[in-house]
Amino acid sequence: MVFSIALLLPVCTANAADADTRPHRNVVLVTLDGVRTQEIFGGLDVDLLRSRLGKGKQLADDPLYRRYGADTPQARREKLMPFFWGTLMREHGSIAGNAALGSRVQVGNTMRFSYPGYAELLTGRARDEAIDSNDHIQNPFPTVLEFVRERLKLPQGQVAAFGSWDRFEVIPEHRPGSIFVNAGFMAYKSPDPGVRRLDAMQDKALAWTEERFDAFTEAFALDYLQRERPRLLYVGLGDTDEWSHAGNYELVLRALHDTDAFLRELWTWLQSQPQYRGNTTLIVTTDHGRGRGMKDWTDHGADVEGAQDIWIAIAGPDAVRRGEWRDAAPLKQGQVAATVAQAFGLDFSALEPQAYPPIPMSPRAK
Ligand SMILES: [Zn+2]
Repeated sequence: MVFSIALLLPVCTANAADADTRPHRNVVLVTLDGVRTQEIFGGLDVDLLRSRLGKGKQLADDPLYRRYGADTPQARREKLMPFFWGTLMREHGSIAGNAALGSRVQVGNTMRFSYPGYAELLTGRARDEAIDSNDHIQNPFPTVLEFVRERLKLPQGQVAAFGSWDRFEVIPEHRPGSIFVNAGFMAYKSPDPGVRRLDAMQDKALAWTEERFDAFTEAFALDYLQRERPRLLYVGLGDTDEWSHAGNYELVLRALHDTDAFLRELWTWLQSQPQYRGNTTLIVTTDHGRGRGMKDWTDHGADVEGAQDIWIAIAGPDAVRRGEWRDAAPLKQGQVAATVAQAFGLDFSALEPQAYPPIPMSPRAK
């Protein structure tokens, strides 16, 4: 016994030395605007699709059902988001918010729309008194993105936010220039000719005036990640919300399916890099839910029932749970800020004493 401890000693010493030089922790936060718990946990909403079928038409005849349909919610969601459910949540993390299993996540704000949701996510608590519209105003409150950069004394470009919606020009920081921001139709400069071509196209290939397609945001964020190697990256995607407001359920599902491919590319790259492998927390969540009904699924807001219900997924080194949370204490959207800070060993309540606490990683810590 003594002999084996003696053998281990040099190894322990080496590990202690490695601990000081090992790569630092990183966080990637991804939001999918206005994605309901119904689609995240159940994939294609069969009742919704059925309500839209023409007279005499069967589910099985519908092209959307043939693509994403299956007999169970579990099978449907895996068809819709095969990487998220088949790999990320199975092997690397867990997701809270499936009410059917006794887990709820709700927004703390009463607004149930975008800017109030992002403000709560990034500043740690509801900001109803100040953020009650989607107006293009600079965030009045310091965000966790700014907090991490300041506390870790990181160069500006080591914390970056990319967003499809032009409000992400002002949401991620209260002092312009605190972090790197690229949002809406802002130019993105890259030495890569392919990415430069995308940059030149972003305000030509468009469907909305205030929001570019996620494909551009994703490409720019991945280019930045690989080139600048930030410690903290935020990617705010928006196609899902735009197609929902338009009532185009097929494109909502396609957007989710495409997002799943983005998450696969993002995660696979992170795990291929010594700086990020096994050392990066990935949080995926949304700013608000939407209506539960056959008519109001397109909508959200203070008077839309269901829009308060959201979900939060966490993967990475601190995420000890796998799959779906069961019989857990409810979570609030604002807990994301302190959770991001905690991944870096920081206490967000030092900035915002009224912030919600970090999300408990262990099932026992209710
Ligand atoms: Zn939204």
